Amino acid sequence: APIELGPAWRHGFAALGSSFYTELRPTPLPQPHLVSLNRSLAAELGLDADLLATPEAVAAFTGNALPAGSRPLATVYSGHQFGVWAGQLGDGRAILLGGVETPAGVQELQLKGAGRTPYSRMGDGRAVLRSSIREYLCSEAMQGLGVPTTRALLVTGSPQPVRREEIETASVVTRVAPSFVRFGHFEHFSARGQEEELRQLADYVIDTFYPHVRGSEALAGNPYANLLEQVSARTAAMVAQWQAVGFCHGVMNTDNMSMLGLTIDYGPFQFLDAFVPNHICNHSDETGRYAYNRQPNVAYWNLFCLGQALLPLIGDQELALAALEPYQASFPRELESRMRDKLGLVDEQPGDRQLVEGILTLLAADRVDYPVFWRRLSAFVAGSELAPVRDLFLDRPGFDGWVSQYEARLPDGRAEAGQRMLRTNPKYVLRNHLCELAIRQAKLGDFSEVEALLSLVQSPFDEHPGHEDKAGFPPDWAAHIEISCSS
Ligand code: AMP
Ligand code: MG
Ligand code: MG
Repeated sequence: APIELGPAWRHGFAALGSSFYTELRPTPLPQPHLVSLNRSLAAELGLDADLLATPEAVAAFTGNALPAGSRPLATVYSGHQFGVWAGQLGDGRAILLGGVETPAGVQELQLKGAGRTPYSRMGDGRAVLRSSIREYLCSEAMQGLGVPTTRALLVTGSPQPVRREEIETASVVTRVAPSFVRFGHFEHFSARGQEEELRQLADYVIDTFYPHVRGSEALAGNPYANLLEQVSARTAAMVAQWQAVGFCHGVMNTDNMSMLGLTIDYGPFQFLDAFVPNHICNHSDETGRYAYNRQPNVAYWNLFCLGQALLPLIGDQELALAALEPYQASFPRELESRMRDKLGLVDEQPGDRQLVEGILTLLAADRVDYPVFWRRLSAFVAGSELAPVRDLFLDRPGFDGWVSQYEARLPDGRAEAGQRMLRTNPKYVLRNHLCELAIRQAKLGDFSEVEALLSLVQSPFDEHPGHEDKAGFPPDWAAHIEISCSS
C-alpha cells in the first residue's frame, strides 16, 4: 500500500494546468537508504519522524513509490544563466510531489535528483551524495542563521553510480518550501508571448503569497507592479542577510531566484572564511560574475529581468521601473541594519556607515577570518579580553583606531549588547572544509558527521561543548577545495 504521510495534500501549482508542467513519476533507484533525517523540520511540519525513517518512506522519498495523495510533476521555466538568455530550462531533476497542509501553512515537497524529466536536456536527472549533503546542510544552516531559505527534510542515497568529474553515487534530497516558483517561470511565458499563462501564474503567486497587493493603491494600484515591488523588497532583505553572514550563492542565475525571496538552489555556495570581498566560490564562474561583492548588483539585474518579464502585465515601463527603484534604497538600508546588529548597535546614528566600512576595509586588507572576527568581537563586547580580536590584524594601529571609535559608539548596557551579538554572530558556520569532511565520511557509509554538523548549524549561536574544533579557522587545504556547477 502507498505510504500515508498524514497531512492533506493541496495541489495549488498542479491546478494551474498542463502548460506549466509535465506530470511524470520519479525514476526508481536501487537499494535506497537513509542518509539523514531532519527531525526538527519534521516536527515543525507536523510529520511523524519515525514514519519518515521507515524503509517504506525512505523508498518513497527516493522516488521508488509515491506517497498516497501526491501528484508528481516537473515544472517548466526559462532563465538567464551568467547574464545570457538560456531559453527553456525547467526542473531537469526535481520532481514536485505537491503541497501538504502543515502547522507552518501549505508546504510543497520536491524530490531533487529523482530522475530525468522532459527538461533534463543533456543531464542525467540525478544528484550525487556530495551535492545533496551540501544542499541539505546549507538550507538548515541558513535557517539556523535566520536567512529565508528553502528547507530540506531528508537525504537518501543509493549505490547507483553517477558520472560527474569522477564516478559518484546517486542521492535524493527532499526539499520543502511554500513554493519553488522562480523568476525564470515568468521569463518563460513572457519570452514565448504566452500572456494568458503569464497572467495566470502572476495571479496565482499574488493570490497565494501576496494577497495584500490586491488592495494596494501604490504604483497606480497595479497589482503586477506591486508584486514586482514586493519581490524586490524581499530580495533586498535576503541578499542583505547573505552579505552580513558572508554567504556566497555561486550561481545567481534568474532561474535560481525565488519569487518568495527564499535562498534557493544550493550548488557551489560558500560561507566566507577570510574576508575577501571579490571572492568567487564557483569554480565554473570564470569572470567572477557571482563574486561575493557583486551579489547585490546581480540581484538587481535579476529583478530587472523579472520586471521585463512582467511588463506585458504591468503595461507601463515607467511603472515597472518605479516598482524596482526601491531596491536601490532598501538594499543599503537593510544591509546597514544587519551590520548594526552584528556590531551590537540598536539605534541608527550618523557615523554608522563609516564604522561599518572602516572595519570591512581592515578585514579585507588583512584577509581576516570573517566568522572568527565577529565571534571574538562579540565575546569582547560581552566582557572578554580585546587581545584575541586585535591579534587577528596585522594593521594594529588601524584596528586600534577603529576599536576606540567603536567603543565610544557602543550603547549603555554593553554586556547586553555583547549578549545580543553572541546571538547574531554565529559560533558555528558551515564552512566548506566542514562539509567536505562530512562528505568524505558519508561516502564511506558513515553519516555521523552529517548528523553532528546538522545539529551545530541548526543552533549556530550555542556553545556546543566538545565541538570547538569546528568553530575555528579553516585548515590550509580548505583553500584548495574546488566546487563547480557540476553537482
Ligand atoms: P542549476 O545550475 O543547478 O540551476 O541548473 C540549471 C538547469 O540544469 C536546471 O534546469 C536544472 O534542472 C538542470 N540540471 C542541473 N543538473 C541536472 C542534471 N544532473 N540532470 C538534468 N538536469 C539538470
Ligand atoms: Mg537551478
Ligand atoms: Mg542546482
